[in-house]
Amino acid sequence: MTGIWGRGTPPVVAAEQDTYEADVAVVGSGAGGATLAWALASTGARVLVVERGGFLPREAANWSPDAVFGEGRYHNAGTWRTTDGEAFTPANHYYVGGTTKVYGAALPRLRESDFDAREQREGTSPAWPFGYADLEPYYAEAERLYRVHGQAGADPTAPPRSGPYPHPAVPHEPVVGELAARLTNQGLHPFPIELGIDLGAGGACLRCGTCDAYPCRVGAKSDAETRALRPALRTGTVRLLTRTRADRLLTNPGGRRVTAVEAERNGRRIRVRAGTVVVSCGAINSAALLLRSGGAAHPDGLANGSGLVGRNLMVHNNSVLMAVDPRRRNPVTFQKTLAVNDFYHPLGNLQLMGKVHGAALAAAHPRLPRRLLGAVAARSVDWWVMSEDLPDPGNRVLPGPDGGVVLHRRPTNTRAHRDLVRCAARMMRRAGHPLVFTRRMGVAATGHQCGTTVAGLDETRSVLDPHCRSHEVRNLYIVDGGFFPSSAAVNPTLTIAAQALRTAREGGVLP
Ligand SMILES: Cc1cc2nc3c(=O)[nH]c(=O)nc-3n(C[C@H](O)[C@H](O)[C@H](O)COP(=O)(O)OP(=O)(O)OC[C@H]3O[C@@H](n4cnc5c(N)ncnc54)[C@H](O)[C@@H]3O)c2cc1C
Repeated sequence: MTGIWGRGTPPVVAAEQDTYEADVAVVGSGAGGATLAWALASTGARVLVVERGGFLPREAANWSPDAVFGEGRYHNAGTWRTTDGEAFTPANHYYVGGTTKVYGAALPRLRESDFDAREQREGTSPAWPFGYADLEPYYAEAERLYRVHGQAGADPTAPPRSGPYPHPAVPHEPVVGELAARLTNQGLHPFPIELGIDLGAGGACLRCGTCDAYPCRVGAKSDAETRALRPALRTGTVRLLTRTRADRLLTNPGGRRVTAVEAERNGRRIRVRAGTVVVSCGAINSAALLLRSGGAAHPDGLANGSGLVGRNLMVHNNSVLMAVDPRRRNPVTFQKTLAVNDFYHPLGNLQLMGKVHGAALAAAHPRLPRRLLGAVAARSVDWWVMSEDLPDPGNRVLPGPDGGVVLHRRPTNTRAHRDLVRCAARMMRRAGHPLVFTRRMGVAATGHQCGTTVAGLDETRSVLDPHCRSHEVRNLYIVDGGFFPSSAAVNPTLTIAAQALRTAREGGVLP
C-alpha cells in the first residue's frame, strides 16, 4: 500500500478482528461519508470509515464505452426490484468513493429559492429546515475541496456567493461555443457548468471524452475518494475498512443510543463500536439499513418514530435528449461544459452530458442496428434534462431479501418534465438540429436519490434534525441525500458535501 499512500502505517485496515473501535464510525465512503471524514480528520478524533466496496481499479477499461456501457463493468450493486416485481440494475456503485467514482462532476449549488416552499405544477415542494445562507460558507468550502470551476454571474438563477469560484470556468470546445452563441441569439442565457475536475497548470485532467459515467483513469475527476477520503486517510487519524458491509446498527436496551455497527467482512461477522455512528450509504441504502435495524425499542426500524424512514424517495425526473443534424458530425470530445437554466422556474435544468457513444445507445437499444446507432451518436448533441420530482410518502425503499433493496416509485410532477423536454427540443431545433430523440429514464436511474430520511424541525414529521442528527437516537447521523426535503432540479452532490461539512462542524458529531 505504501505506493499510493506514501511511507508509514497503511491507513487501510488489514487486521482481521471481531471488534474494531473508533470515536466516530462512518458507514459509506461516497460524497457524504468521505467529505465528513475529511472534515473530522483535523480534529484528532479516531474515525473509522466502513465501506462495503473495494478500490475501483485504474485500468484501460475505465475509458472503454464497450466495457462501461456494454458490459456494465463497474455496476456492482446487484439486481434490485420494484414492488411490481420488475428487476433492474441501479445506478449505485459500491466502491471506495461510492457513486462519485462514475459521476459527471457537475457541482452546482441549489438555487436560493429551492430552500423555500414553492408551488409546483402538481403539488408543493416543501421548505428546508434551514436557509441557503446557512449552507453558503460550506458550499464555498466544498467547492474548494472538490476544485470546482465556474463563472460567477453567468447563470441568472444562481444564488449569491461570498466569493469567486476557486477555479475559472472550463472553456467550451469550439462546437459547444458555437451552440452557446446560437442559444444566446434565442434570448437564452447558457452558462458554463460548474465542474469538479483537476484542470489548469499542473492539473491531471486531459479533458478526454470519458468523464461523465466513467471512472477517471488519471485521478483528475473530483470524486470523493480522490479529493476527500485519500487526504483524510493520509492524516492517520482516519482509517478505512474496505469490503465490509454494514448489516445492522445495534443499540443499548432502551434503543436511545447506537452502540455498534454489525457488519460482514470477508465472510466474518464483525462489530465496529463507536461513540457516534454516521450512516452515509446513499439515501436508499441508508434507509434500508435503518429499516433492517429495528428491535423491541424500534419495531418499525431504527430512528423511525415518524414512520418516514425510506419514504419520500426522490430521484428527479430525468430524460436524455439527443439533437441531431444529419448533415454534420459532432466533433466534440469533452462535451459537458454548457447548461441552461432559463426554464428552471418551474420546469428545471438542461445540461450537456458527456458525449454519448454508440456503445451506450446499443446498451439501451439492443435491437437497433449498431451502425445506425453509431451514426446517430456521431452527429448528436446530448443533453441531460432534469426536473424536480416531489416527495410522496408512497414512494419508498423497502429492505429486500439477501441484503437487497425493493423500491416503489411512481413519478411525480411529470407534466413539468414533459414541458421541459418540449422546450429543450424546440431550443435545439431552432439551433439547427432538426431531429430530436428523447428517452425518459426509469426507476433504474437512482443516481440523484434523496429524501428518504428527511430533515426537519418537527420530529413527528421528519427523521433528522437540521444537522442530519436523528431526532430519536442522538448519537446517530445520516449524511447523504436522504436529508433533502425536496429534490430541487440541480445535481445533488455539492449540496450533500456542503451539508456533510456543516454537520461535522456544527452538528455535535464528536462524542
Ligand atoms: C452516471 C452518474 C453520473 C452522475 N453525475 C453526477 C453529477 O454530475 N453531479 C452530481 O452532483 N451528481 C451526480 N451523480 C450522483 C452522485 O453520484 C451522487 O449524488 C453521490 O454519489 C451521492 O453521494 P452519497 O454519499 O450519498 O452516496 P454514494 O456516493 O453512493 O456513496 C455511498 C457509499 O456507501 C457504501 N455503502 C452502501 N451500503 C453500505 C453498507 N451497508 N455498508 C457499508 N457501505 C455501504 C457504498 O458502497 C458507497 O461507497 C451521478 C450519478 C451517476 C450514477
